[in-house]
Amino acid sequence: MIAILKNSADDRAVEQLASWIEGKGLQAHISRGENELIIGLVGDTTKIDPFLLESMDIVERVQRVSEPFKKANRKFHPADSVIDCGGGVLLGGGHFQVIAGPCSVEGENLIRIARRVHAAGATMLRGGAYKPRTSPYAYQGMGPAGLDLLCEARAELGMPIVTEIMDARDIPVFLDKRIDVMQIGARNAQNFTLLKEVGKTKTPVLLKRGMSGTIDELLMAAEYIMSEGNDNVILCERGIRTFETRTRNTFDLNAVPVLHYLSHLPVVADPSHATGYTRYVAPMALAATAAGADGLEIEVHDDPSHAWSDGAQALTPDMFDDLMRRIALIRDAIQPASEEATR
Ligand code: PEP
Ligand code: MN
Repeated sequence: MIAILKNSADDRAVEQLASWIEGKGLQAHISRGENELIIGLVGDTTKIDPFLLESMDIVERVQRVSEPFKKANRKFHPADSVIDCGGGVLLGGGHFQVIAGPCSVEGENLIRIARRVHAAGATMLRGGAYKPRTSPYAYQGMGPAGLDLLCEARAELGMPIVTEIMDARDIPVFLDKRIDVMQIGARNAQNFTLLKEVGKTKTPVLLKRGMSGTIDELLMAAEYIMSEGNDNVILCERGIRTFETRTRNTFDLNAVPVLHYLSHLPVVADPSHATGYTRYVAPMALAATAAGADGLEIEVHDDPSHAWSDGAQALTPDMFDDLMRRIALIRDAIQPASEEATR
């Protein structure tokens, strides 16, 4: 349920209404847009009489929200959320960022790759130190030593770092090393215990869509994180499993505008895992940019044939340079002619 408030509502009256809602055992989620002030009511709304709420002086109207996701819902928060990823890097609401780096942190080559992607214009560095591999015999990642290498690269280049967390027991290490963005991978997209635990932190979370996850399931996963108090969620479309076998996954670019329609959270697209082959990454990165993604996550390796994971989908730094130039052209080309033309 949401209460849309009158323009005349002053701060004190809004606070009083929020306390009244909280007194009924619900959470009051206040969202101040440019033209609208909205209170989202989260919890057991059967305890609230909508007619009583609507009769209150400062309330313009009350609307039920039928979707099961509340905090992630655009109805609760009409304006795009802008996530502060650290180091002054903002994502969402017109702030477009490119996250690039190797699939896995492998050692000293990380800094070489990081320098190249940084020079090409990437604004965040990725690299997995904890790797979710299909086989337990495949490379599992460097662990804390890998996080240290990412931190060293951050210190040199000033880029926020994005890295996957697989186990809630590692949260203290991630917090201790001040990891800027915790990635929840496709395989953990419905690990509700992990989602709730990262929700208890304030660290931004890059939440990937599950391999066979629907858009609603992705939004419900975001809701798990947000329901614990962490609103810094970035959604990521990384391809879904379909009957098609020519690509690693099927890139669901529909998800980009659909997620923007349903939710205020920023949407990043990952053409690397979505396609699985280097030759398809650039065209689909451009397509995702044109579809309105707020950012891209792209795997880059300086020697893909010797990469410890996902070499088949890695761009070389030279390919990445060229792609970044073309992404800038697409970004220019899709600027709306007027403010009203935006979503
Ligand atoms: C990754 O980013 O390297 C990764 C494992 O991604 P996903 O969870 O999307 O497969
Ligand atoms: Mn990978």
